[in-house]
Amino acid sequence: ATPTAFMAATGRGAQLGVLLRGPEALERLQHIDTVVFDKTGTLTTGRMTLVDTTPTAGEDEAEILRLAGAVEYGSEHPIGRAVAAAARQAAKDGQLPPVTDFRAVPGVGVSGRVDGREVVVGRPRPDTPLPDTLQQALDRAHAAARTAVVVETDGRPVGVLAVGDTLRPSSRPAVRQLSELGIEPILVTGDGPAAARAVAEQVGIDEVHAEVTPEGKTDIVAKLREEGRRVAVIGDGVNDAAALASADLGIAMGSGTDAAIGAADITLVREDMQAVVAAVQLTRRTLGTIR
Ligand code: ADP
Ligand code: MG
Repeated sequence: ATPTAFMAATGRGAQLGVLLRGPEALERLQHIDTVVFDKTGTLTTGRMTLVDTTPTAGEDEAEILRLAGAVEYGSEHPIGRAVAAAARQAAKDGQLPPVTDFRAVPGVGVSGRVDGREVVVGRPRPDTPLPDTLQQALDRAHAAARTAVVVETDGRPVGVLAVGDTLRPSSRPAVRQLSELGIEPILVTGDGPAAARAVAEQVGIDEVHAEVTPEGKTDIVAKLREEGRRVAVIGDGVNDAAALASADLGIAMGSGTDAAIGAADITLVREDMQAVVAAVQLTRRTLGTIR
């Protein structure tokens, strides 16, 4: 395509709310045949809310939320924001206790010291059995397609927090329209299989990979590319940054983390998934599909 065509397409892209890092992004978008979607914050709004707190026997629900909220306060993850917001609301003075040794592990969870205790909030570990009340809380959350995380103090599981999320209204039509353009949608998430399947069903995606680590996301992209596919990844999180960078084309949600936006070739400034479809149609129309 000519420089004029690129410039025109870039300008149209900006109008659609699609920010391009350079002309190569357009060229590559044109040839994409597979789109790997992240779930939380991408197909869903990522504006999560805490819907349930379950303590183990002998533990206090309010105390678990206070400790979990304190460590999550430093997290950029939608789960962390939901937990911290709920904890602040529940606190009498709206204040959370101070945290030292804060650590966030993408795709896993957060930890820190609060009131002399080591507090961890993160993904349920399949290899660690939970007390019955907590296992039941996990099962209940999963049956309702919610995301559930485990709270540990000093190495002991003391509670389960269930958070709910909402689908972006544009996700389902965007997935359908991409399929119609011959682009295969795949869902890859760090969340559990139940929440993953529920979202996949709602948006109309058949291929689902759940409980995938950030490195695992990169591996899936590498495998697809080895099969000769031209792969775009759409994500928002720190956990998506490596996969975004390793794809033929990385697309970040404008509401996403700096890490995701920095790793991507394209940013969706409006939170509208259908802008991706419009951008693909635009490149095919203006740049031509045959090189
Ligand atoms: P996704 O791919 O859906 O965006 P992530 O890879 O970010 O999910 O996270 C995978 C899992 O790791 C979450 O479902 C959760 O169990 C756990 N996790 C990640 N960040 C946090 C956090 N800040 N607090 C609690 N759990 C977390
Ligand atoms: Mg995400």
